[in-house]
This record gives sequence, structure tokens and C-alpha cells, in this order.
Amino acid sequence: MKTYIIGNWKMNFTVGESSLFLNKLLQKVHAYRDIEVVVSPSLMAIQSLSLQTDRRKIKLCAQNCYHRDFGAYTGEVSVTQLRALVDYVIVGHSERRYIFNESDKDIRSKVSAIIRNGLTPILCVGETESERTFGETADVLRDQVLGGLSEVSAEDISKVIIAYEPVWAISGHDKAARVASPLDVQDAFKLIRSVLKETYGKTTAEETALLFGGSVKSTNAESYLLLDDCNGLLIGGASLIAPEFTDIIEIAKRVKDANA
Ligand code: PEP
Repeated sequence: MKTYIIGNWKMNFTVGESSLFLNKLLQKVHAYRDIEVVVSPSLMAIQSLSLQTDRRKIKLCAQNCYHRDFGAYTGEVSVTQLRALVDYVIVGHSERRYIFNESDKDIRSKVSAIIRNGLTPILCVGETESERTFGETADVLRDQVLGGLSEVSAEDISKVIIAYEPVWAISGHDKAARVASPLDVQDAFKLIRSVLKETYGKTTAEETALLFGGSVKSTNAESYLLLDDCNGLLIGGASLIAPEFTDIIEIAKRVKDANA
């Protein structure tokens, strides 16, 4: 399986800044067969960046979508409209769940629309600080994984990438975000794989990519990438700093080659 290095730019950069930043990345990023580099710009910039990018080096991802294909849904953008421009769509990000009150029902409709349109969903799951304190992590992860996947047919499950993003470790929410230890992440990965195995079988569980996200930087990326179950990283803040993001890509390549 490839290693995924995905940058989520969130609501940062104007269209012009996005283009300059992508250009900077394209000059530095190598086209590695076994490393999939993806950036997720603002919706505003997606059209122009889709013409600018070299997809062998950097693919594009949308940060959100609506589950209907067309119609009277003012302000929304469908996967049908995105499908010529991006390869991936993030869904269920904690900022969507907690700031915009997206439910598992909204999320599963989006996951199935993304698959129906031939793109890859990156389904984010993760517990909040208080859920963790009250010992609810396992239940939350199970509910979010099964809740997000329940409209996907068994043969399509492994097309979904799952990103474990504990809310308490995401830097954008909380300036005092804590850094997750590799052991915390390994425990969550094991749990997610066992939920997938129980529900969809061993092969699907092994073929589904699991990413980690939460205050990943070039200084800690390796510790997560070395985990047995880790197939990549979803990176917020550090993906807005070109040398940080490109260093993380090189670290991923080094880890991949060492394990080959
Ligand atoms: C995110 O919001 O998906 C994320 C991982 O952010 P950060 O890397 O800034 O914690």
C-alpha cells in the first residue's frame, strides 16, 4: 500500500497565495510511486490549482462536499461538480462535526456520494478530550467508523481512507493541543482495524488505509510513520509551511524504503 501524505490547508491562503504555494511545492516534491502526496486547498482555489498541478507529484483533495449531485442547495458544492478537479474529499473532519454540527448521518451520505462519483473519501474520526477522560474512546471510534461507513457496500469499504484525528491533538482547535504519543495512536489504529475486521472481514481490514492526524510536524512525523498500522499522515498547520511539508514527504519516503 502507498503511504499518504495529505495537507489540509483549511481556510487559509487566497487563490493567488495557493497558486504560489503549490508552485513552491511542485518545485521541491519528487514523484515517488509509493508516496501519494495530496493537498486540500480552499474550494475557491481548486479549479485553478487543478490546471496548475502535476498530478504525478501532487493530487488535490476537497475539504467538504454535499451529498446530492445537483439541485436547489444554495451554497453547496457536489461531488459531481468536484469530480473532474480532485481525487479525494475529506469528510467528517472534527471542525465539520463540532463547529458545523455534522452528524454521522450527514457524513455517511457524503461518503457514499464520494464513492458513487468515483473519488476517494478520507473519513476522519476521533474522540474529544472529555470523551477520552471518561473512557469513551473505543465507543466513539466504533460509532464514528461504523456510522460513517454504513451506506458503503462491503466491496467498497477498502476504498475509504480512515484518518484517526483525536480532537485534543488538533492544533487548529486548541492552541494548547496535546501531542498524541505513538502508543495512543497505535491503540486507536488497532481498535479501528479490529472494528473493520469484525464487521467486514480480515482482508478488508488489512486493505483499508489508516492515517494519523494531529499536530504532526517534521520532528514527530517519523514516530507515527514507524507504527505498523500507519499508512500515512493528515497534516494541518505544518502543511502550510513548505519546508515542513516537503521534509515530512522525505521522511515518509525514508521510512518506506527502510521497510521495503
Ligand atoms: C487537522 O485539522 O486535520 C490537523 C491534523 O491539524 P493539525 O495538523 O494542525 O493539528
